[in-house]
Amino acid sequence: MSSDALTDVALPAPSRADAEAADRADLLAPVLQRFQLPAGVIYLDGNSLGAAPVAVTPLIEDVITRQWGQDLITSWNVNGWWELPARLGDEVGALIGAAAGQVVCGDSTSVQLFQALVAACRLRPGRTVILTDGANFPTDQYIADSVGRLLGLQVIRCPPSELAEHLDERVAVASFSLVDYRTGELFDAATVTNAVHQAGALMLWDLCHAAGALPVHLDAIEADFAVGCTYKYLNGGPGAPAYIYLAQRHQARAELPLTGWNGHRTPFALDQDYQPAESIEQARIGTPPLLSLAALGAGLAVFAEPELCSGLTSGLDSIRAKSLALTDLAIAFADSELAALGVEVVTPRSHERRGSQLSLRMEHAYEVCQALIGRGVIGDFRAPDLLRLGFTPLYLRHVDVHDAMTVLADVLASKSYLDPAYARRAAVT
Ligand SMILES: *Cc1c(COP(=O)(O)O)cnc(C)c1O
Repeated sequence: MSSDALTDVALPAPSRADAEAADRADLLAPVLQRFQLPAGVIYLDGNSLGAAPVAVTPLIEDVITRQWGQDLITSWNVNGWWELPARLGDEVGALIGAAAGQVVCGDSTSVQLFQALVAACRLRPGRTVILTDGANFPTDQYIADSVGRLLGLQVIRCPPSELAEHLDERVAVASFSLVDYRTGELFDAATVTNAVHQAGALMLWDLCHAAGALPVHLDAIEADFAVGCTYKYLNGGPGAPAYIYLAQRHQARAELPLTGWNGHRTPFALDQDYQPAESIEQARIGTPPLLSLAALGAGLAVFAEPELCSGLTSGLDSIRAKSLALTDLAIAFADSELAALGVEVVTPRSHERRGSQLSLRMEHAYEVCQALIGRGVIGDFRAPDLLRLGFTPLYLRHVDVHDAMTVLADVLASKSYLDPAYARRAAVT
C-alpha cells in the first residue's frame, strides 16, 4: 500500500509487461466478455455511465417484441412486471449488504433523496437540523435545501471529517455520499454511522459512487436509509432507475412523502385514502419505467456471473481487490511520469480512503480531457481543474490503465491539448 510520504520519491514507471502479467492472473478477466465496448477505446468513465452489457440487447428486444408486443398488459402478471422493482431491489441489496425486503428500484436518485430525507426528518420530530456535505454532489445539496425549506429545518454543511463539531441533539439526519464524486475519497461508513447514531440522529448514505465498485454493508453498520443510482458501476443504462434502502426496523413507522398508488397497501383496491404497504413496497411511487427497469436487470445479472460468485472471496471482494490494483497502478504511473508535468494526485493514497477512481488536478483539465477523448481514452472533467478517471474492475484490464496513462503523459508532454478544437465546450461537460 502506498502512503502519502512516497509522493516525491522518483520511481520507475510501471512496466507494460507487469500489467500484462497482472491481466493473465486476473480471475475477473473473463467478465470483460459480458460487455459491449467499442474497439480502440479505453473507457474510464464507468463511474458516470457504465458500459452496456452484451445481454441487454436481447433482453430489451424480448421485452419489446414478446412481452409488450404479444403479451401486452397481461405482462404485469405473466412476465413479472409488477414484482420487478422489489425483485431488482433485492439484487441491488445483495451488493450493498442489505438483506432482502429493504430495497426497491425506481425513479431517480434525486427523487429517492427527497423521499429518504423527508422520511428521516419525520422519524425525528422536534429536531431541526439536516447535515450534508458541502462537497456532496449538487443534487444532494439542492434536495436537502428544499426539504429544509419545506419542513422548516436548517441545513448545515459539513464534511464527514468535521461531523463531531455539528452533531448534537438538534440533528435529525446526516446525509453523506460514501465516496466523494470529485476526489474519490472513501469515508468510513461504520464510524460515521455510529457517531450519527450516538447523537440520536439518522444516517442516510448516498451510494452512487460506491455500489458495485466496493463492498458496502448497510445492515451490518445499521444504516437507516440509503439511495443510489444504477447507471454508474451497476451498468443499468442511461437514466436507469435509482434505488432506495429503508431499513427493516423503520418500515412500520416511516412516512415517505411521495404517496403514489404503487406504494399503497392494496393498490388495486383503488381506495380514496392512502395506506402505505407494510413492506418495502411502501417505497414505490408510480408506474415504473419498465424498459429501463428491465435493462437494469442485465447490468445486475453480470454480478451473478460465476467468476464473481465462486472462489474463496465473494464477488465484491474480488472486485474491490482489482479496483485497488488498477488505481494503485494509475497512481504509481502518475507519481513517476506525471508529477513533473504539473499533475497532482487528489484521490487519497491509502486503500481505506480510496474509492474506484483517480482524480488528477491540473491546469487545462478540460482541454486535456478532450484531447484524451480524441485519442480514444474516455475520462471526464469536473470543474474547475480535475480530470477524473473511473476504474470499473469488471471490464478494465491492467494494460488499459497502463496505456491510458501513457497517452495522458504524451498529451501533457506534447501539449497537444492546446489545439483550439479541444477548448470548445459542449452542453454536457
Ligand atoms: C450520480 C449522482 C447523482 C445522480 O442523481 P440523478 O438524480 O440520477 O441525476 C446523485 N448524487 C450523487 C452523489 C451522484 O454521484
